[in-house]
Amino acid sequence: MVETKGIDHRVVAREKARTLKRNGLVEVVEATTSLDDIGGLGLLKDWLVRRGGAFSASAKAYGLPAPKGLLIVGIPGTGKSLTAKATAGAFGLPLLRLDMGRVFGGIVGQSEANLRSVIQTAEAIAPCVLWIDEIEKGFSGSKSSGSTDGGTSSRVFGSFLSWMQEKEKPVFVVATANDVSKLPPEFLRKGRFDEMFFVDLPDALERAQIWDIVIARHGRKPTGFDTVVLARACEQFTGAEIEAVFIDALHEAYADGREPRPKDILEAMTHTVPLAQLMDGQTAALRHWAKGRAREAASRAAPAARNGRRMTEVN
Ligand code: ATP
Repeated sequence: MVETKGIDHRVVAREKARTLKRNGLVEVVEATTSLDDIGGLGLLKDWLVRRGGAFSASAKAYGLPAPKGLLIVGIPGTGKSLTAKATAGAFGLPLLRLDMGRVFGGIVGQSEANLRSVIQTAEAIAPCVLWIDEIEKGFSGSKSSGSTDGGTSSRVFGSFLSWMQEKEKPVFVVATANDVSKLPPEFLRKGRFDEMFFVDLPDALERAQIWDIVIARHGRKPTGFDTVVLARACEQFTGAEIEAVFIDALHEAYADGREPRPKDILEAMTHTVPLAQLMDGQTAALRHWAKGRAREAASRAAPAARNGRRMTEVN
């Protein structure tokens, strides 16, 4: 956690955001998510915990440079955005969300001016976390050397990279991406981000953890369900799909005027074809790409008991 010396950074951020000219490009997001809200992704969470103190005054006195940021690549619905939000919670910093799509557009030069405005805003609020969701959508045009947009994406992309490289203000960038093939290679080069993590589909143990979290998030006691059995029944499901199944079961139970039962959940699963199954080729390609390039977000090999369960109970 950052050393606050009695100051709540979130309150400061809100005040600064109020006084800043509204540019419609970044919004301050209330960071109510914590690392405990994420099922699985143990290595990524450990990394965040260990980096969390690096924004403190004592870390500065120690000579630590402020961490630059994190790139999280992975299958849709596996908790990348959730992790971005939880990062702000874990670091005790305000969270700004940037809509990259909105940076582009308008008259000539507008996109560059927009990016400058975003950087100024983030640096005025720093220390903060700047979350850029689906970053590939913003920068994909730069791969074509500007053949489609007169070079605007390339220029904005270049400015962004320079800022990432040189920034001294403690703005921790968390960028998420589903489709790495659209990202320019310079972006992925070491040194831009502190680390790049790959988020795969959750394994059985992680799915059980996600079930516990999702059931509790919707106001029910996880102990009322055998989440190990539920986890076994939903192979290839993402966290987002697990939550969608539980919501479906809640609706069915509500319509019948009762509480959800395991049977409702198993029934709802039968109506869901996991996206990873539908996009089998893309999922395999992403895994292949990530091998050796990005760190695994989950600690799958650990045989020891985690979250009160042994692997053998789940697999
Ligand atoms: P996309 O790439 O489509 O934006 P994503 O990887 O960013 O997807 P999230 O938006 O973080 O996925 O996940 C959607 C929702 O699914 C979350 O808000 C959360 O409710 C649930 N969820 C996904 N993964 C997890 C997880 N590992 N633990 C707990 N909940 C999860």
